[in-house]
Amino acid sequence: MDLEQLYLKALRLVPLNKEEGITLYTYAPIEELMFIANKLRQVHNPGNIVGWMIDRNVNLTNICFSQCTFCNFCRKKGSEDGYVTSTKDYITKIDELYLLGGNQLLLQGGMNPDLDISFYIDLFKSLKKLYPSLKLHALGPPEIVYLAKKERLSYEDVLFKLMEAGLDSLPGAGAEILSDRVRKIVSPAKATTAEWLNVMKEAHKLNLPTSATMMYGHIETIEERIEHLLLLRDLQSVKPENHYGFITFIAWPFQDEGTVLLKKHGIRSSYSGPDYIRMISMSRILLNNIRNIQASILTVGREIAMLSLHSGSNDLGSIMIEENVVSAAGANNRFNANEMQLIIKEAGFIPGRRNQKYELVNSSPNTSV
Ligand code: SF4
Repeated sequence: MDLEQLYLKALRLVPLNKEEGITLYTYAPIEELMFIANKLRQVHNPGNIVGWMIDRNVNLTNICFSQCTFCNFCRKKGSEDGYVTSTKDYITKIDELYLLGGNQLLLQGGMNPDLDISFYIDLFKSLKKLYPSLKLHALGPPEIVYLAKKERLSYEDVLFKLMEAGLDSLPGAGAEILSDRVRKIVSPAKATTAEWLNVMKEAHKLNLPTSATMMYGHIETIEERIEHLLLLRDLQSVKPENHYGFITFIAWPFQDEGTVLLKKHGIRSSYSGPDYIRMISMSRILLNNIRNIQASILTVGREIAMLSLHSGSNDLGSIMIEENVVSAAGANNRFNANEMQLIIKEAGFIPGRRNQKYELVNSSPNTSV
């Protein structure tokens, strides 16, 4: 296959097929991929602004029946160190978040068998009552599938009830690799590929903003990475016009430290900086209908994140106060608001503080965060 032809096709925003994607991923020189991806970044986000935000990650509970083999964070029901976050703790954490200038909570897992939909509804309602300007970026497709089965409701009904209670946007959590072969090994109890996609399809119909993710670098093949990206692109292409759909795509590498995948199956993370840059560039090239590509500075660190900004990415995400899941498996690149902006400037861009919908916000944060 002629690489030049594929570059031209990509630059004209013509969707590439699986074989074309595999060819680019496998054979294109990295500097050429970066060049094309960077040009496409300018098509989708002209100018020099790189987005970043302040939010806080709070884990609703660490009890999870799923026991994914890459997760060090979860505990089984009845574990001594199992917890469900109390209202008092939320208040302390949200007060801290507001003091630092942020107003969004990323509320994540696990799937605790003792918590039903009324728990989430009551929690969202009470947090919104206490903090009317709070934004809740919460749960993810696996939790929606789980709640739908538990409550015998449709995905639409579960999402609608949660939106009514205060859910503002749905993270693309639990996508890992959208291949049932891979999912049977890394997260066998979690939503299947079709279930994950169907939840997102319903969220898009309800115009609930969502993100798309990928956790790669474990047992998947290059073909499966490409299929994952094309499944996201195909779903985005059928979202109702003018609805948010997937606002962004974020890929991060598997963190292997202490995981069952490493200890029991000897699977190490295949992460390398050059491969991450290739992954970011390919995401920009294949996802021709998703506007924002975010680099995961928390997992890849400062230098590779800076390079990602020249490879198709236009966002560095959040300073993520109190992230617990990937940090539990070795990801420890923490930056405060000041450092985040300096990194963006050092890479040659203008920091643009934004909200979860990727709208720029003007208020200046407490930069000593
Ligand atoms: S990754 Fe999420 S769903 Fe999987 S075991 Fe951990 S907390 Fe549960």
